[in-house]
Amino acid sequence: MTEIDKIKQELDRARAEMSMLYEISNAMRTTLKLDEVLYIILTAVTAHAGLGFNRAMLFLINEKENIIEGKMGIGPDTGEEANRIWRNIEDQKMDFDDLTNAYRASGKMIDSEFNRIVRRIKFNLSDTENLLTMAAKDGMPLHVNQDTIERYNHDPLLKILNTNELAIVPLKAKDKINGVILADNKFTGKPITNEDLRIFIMLSNQAGLAIENSHLYEQTVILSNTDALTGLWNHGYFQLMLQEEIDRSKALNMPLSLMLIDIDHFKNYNDHLGHQKGDYILTEISKLLLGYSRKMDYVCRYGGEEFAVILPQTNKDGAYLIAERLRELIDQHKFAEEQIQPTNKLTVSIGLSCFPTDAATKSELILAADKALYEAKNSGRNKTCKTP
Ligand code: GH3
Ligand code: MG
Ligand code: MG
Repeated sequence: MTEIDKIKQELDRARAEMSMLYEISNAMRTTLKLDEVLYIILTAVTAHAGLGFNRAMLFLINEKENIIEGKMGIGPDTGEEANRIWRNIEDQKMDFDDLTNAYRASGKMIDSEFNRIVRRIKFNLSDTENLLTMAAKDGMPLHVNQDTIERYNHDPLLKILNTNELAIVPLKAKDKINGVILADNKFTGKPITNEDLRIFIMLSNQAGLAIENSHLYEQTVILSNTDALTGLWNHGYFQLMLQEEIDRSKALNMPLSLMLIDIDHFKNYNDHLGHQKGDYILTEISKLLLGYSRKMDYVCRYGGEEFAVILPQTNKDGAYLIAERLRELIDQHKFAEEQIQPTNKLTVSIGLSCFPTDAATKSELILAADKALYEAKNSGRNKTCKTP
């Protein structure tokens, strides 16, 4: 090869690299949602149009719990599947936009065994050091290859990943380390070159900033959508999430239930004991609702002394069981001075509705739950009613 050919080759490579980084940073700018940002990053690491690693996984530091935990893993479960997926992507000439759009359309679920494995990985940062906690603490990129892998014989992560070679790169924003990305070529066995590592680091620097932005954005969203008294989601966020969950429900062909909860004879409690004590009851009931709900549920203050819980992927029978247990929990709970109430205790009534059986739209779904709540009030209170 002549000197000119070499320079030409070098130029071509630099151009391809630039356009890849440009595309990725563009894609990351289209969203501030953390799961979408993570998906774009990992796609860039694994897609052939990107770095072309077989598998990539991303771990984030959770400062509150002092742990580093798996957030997302992209990669096929088997070598055969890997070939099929890469071929598909190449045949369809998918770029990053297509890949992220496909992700959004899929209802944000990456349902692979590999993703589930990664999401189960969790290490305490103050525990004895391992590859992951080390990388998260010292913030240096690490290339574990056949020559050095012996040193990590007992590493818990390497045991899970069952790999011979691995690149680990920290995700940084300013001086802070947010997490790490790992990538390997488990199926092709293609060695990781210094060149691969160099681009991987460049990409991670951008990824670290994108994740930091997304964190800041999510904190702002949480604050502006939270009810100040109870800490639950406020009415505006309830409306937004109910629509989003209905859309997702349609896409996944899964049911969704809605629970409206209203305190019985609450005016009586307030009139006798004052609004401050009434407000305290609202915070107590909120805690009971939060303590009982699942991670995927949305517990909201609908308004005044009414609460709403969105139960994704839950049919009416399932929702009825949950509602009844909650109603009983509140019935059994000892609230201050509750003997002032007409029944000598503080209770709630609950109305239930289910999508798509009771309603085709968001407002129809709320109306149906409201009707059921009215029925619960009219038939004696301290009850759960559902549309037939
Ligand atoms: P019902 O069993 O029919 O629900 O009777 P109720 O007295 O609870 O009537 P309603 O559901 O209409 O509740 C309205 C009362 O709830 C009025 C007010 O005293 C009380 N309330 C509404 N919002 C708040 C609030 O933010 N704080 C307090 N302390 N009380 C509230
Ligand atoms: Mg009310
Ligand atoms: Mg009431």
